[in-house]
Amino acid sequence: MKDYGLFIDNHWVETSGTFLSINPATEQPIAKFAMANKADVDRAVKAARKAFDSGVWSEMPAAERGRILRRVADLLRERSEMFSVAETLDTGKPIFESRNIDIPTAIDSIEYYASLTVDINGKCIPVGDTALDYTVREPICVVAAITPWNFPLALAFRKLAPALAAGNTVVVKPASVTPLTTVMLGEIFTAAGMPEGVVNIITGSGSTAGNALIHHPLVDKLSFTGSTEIGRDVIDASKDHICEFCLELGGKSPAVVLADANLDAAVDGILFGAFLNQGECCCAATRVLVDSSIHKEFVDLLVEKTSKIVVGDGMDESVRMGPLVSDSHRNSVMDYIEIGKSEAGEPVIGGGLPAGLDRGYFVEPTIFDNVPESSRIYREEIFGPVLTVTAFDGADELVRAANDTAYGLAASIWTGDTAVGQRLSRRIKAGTVWVNLHNFLYSQAPYGGFKQSGIGRELGREGLEAYTEVKNVITWLGQGAFRWY
Ligand code: NAP
Repeated sequence: MKDYGLFIDNHWVETSGTFLSINPATEQPIAKFAMANKADVDRAVKAARKAFDSGVWSEMPAAERGRILRRVADLLRERSEMFSVAETLDTGKPIFESRNIDIPTAIDSIEYYASLTVDINGKCIPVGDTALDYTVREPICVVAAITPWNFPLALAFRKLAPALAAGNTVVVKPASVTPLTTVMLGEIFTAAGMPEGVVNIITGSGSTAGNALIHHPLVDKLSFTGSTEIGRDVIDASKDHICEFCLELGGKSPAVVLADANLDAAVDGILFGAFLNQGECCCAATRVLVDSSIHKEFVDLLVEKTSKIVVGDGMDESVRMGPLVSDSHRNSVMDYIEIGKSEAGEPVIGGGLPAGLDRGYFVEPTIFDNVPESSRIYREEIFGPVLTVTAFDGADELVRAANDTAYGLAASIWTGDTAVGQRLSRRIKAGTVWVNLHNFLYSQAPYGGFKQSGIGRELGREGLEAYTEVKNVITWLGQGAFRWY
């Protein structure tokens, strides 16, 4: 079993404590990691600060920064099978998903932001004849990147790629249940020629390492993806030293099915929306809101197609749904299923542990029908393979129900008339609205939440500008010196 230290200043550093990562399909340990303490975090942040202040990265010609990032992408592509296997062993997700979504998404975002290093622009602002006024975008300085466990590598690069492209230095902390692929990046950054101290990778608990990182006075931007609860702690920490923050938080995304939807396509698309990555997706389609006129037909087809999903060890090529990430998370999802039974009756499919899978944290794909709007399974984020269906009369009621949530990360509209879909998209309060699609993101398009789903945007040009400070430069052009007294 491999033993990983902390990656600080391009060196592997030991510390006093260690912890194991467990394969959720077999319940066997796969690797050992260093448990960073407050002093380790301090060392990592100071390394990032020193690298930034030296100008070795922030003042490197932008094209050269882009070349190094492209080398990171190339090295990751060369090792993509190794990273895919590692991601599946660590998270439980099907290897089919790691190979086709997680690792390619990470590579794509690096290449996209590598191409933008030479295209970080300010603007010239007309202010009259006596002054020239223009803005420049500069790196912020030291970024603390804290990531969750559902798409470890892809979400790490959602932060690392734009932060590095803009010239910042970074300390990244992956989730403790899935640190493997983020830590494996240490070798890739070194091989790509990343200067010392530009990327530092620390592992350890959120309560110690994460907490020390968000409160460190030398951190200039907190970039957090995770639960709304910890997001509140990040906001509080930002008050300590008045630093910037970006939050990507939870969701309870609706899938709105209009009466004229192509049912077969809608069911397939919503299953991808609901059960991709075992439903452990922040933007998962978790609440189906369907027009009453097609309710029964829709649910019958949904159940029929759900019954064909192959659940098992993600390393099996035929598997399309793996185990949940940990025993404690499975318990939380099973608690919600029991709550759902008391709120909405027996599920129309699933609701238990899959037969024949005695080891591993598996849960059956589960669908509850006729779920009341007041119920907890309709309102709270479950973050597992649990889908609710509720029927409404007509588009206005469907839109009202879609917006009746504390979250606003994403939504999908399913209709045979894309013009209607476009019009309804403007009435939905969410950062991403799909029409006849769910769970598709692009590196070049912004992503983030309304309401309690977050603050700020990742991906796209917005995701790059989020890692820059705007400086305004004003030059006197008047005749003679400006004089007041
Ligand atoms: P989490 O418990 O909030 O943890 C997220 C990260 O924060 C982990 O690295 C965790 O470290 C760290 N952390 C925990 N306590 C901390 C503290 N006091 N100070 C600083 N850092 C701390 O979330 P999760 O369970 O990993 O992920 C699931 C949640 O993430 C869901 O709510 C989901 O919707 C959300 N999510 C949102 C998006 C999005 O783009 N909007 C994407 C993916 C996931 P440890 O692992 O060591 O505890």
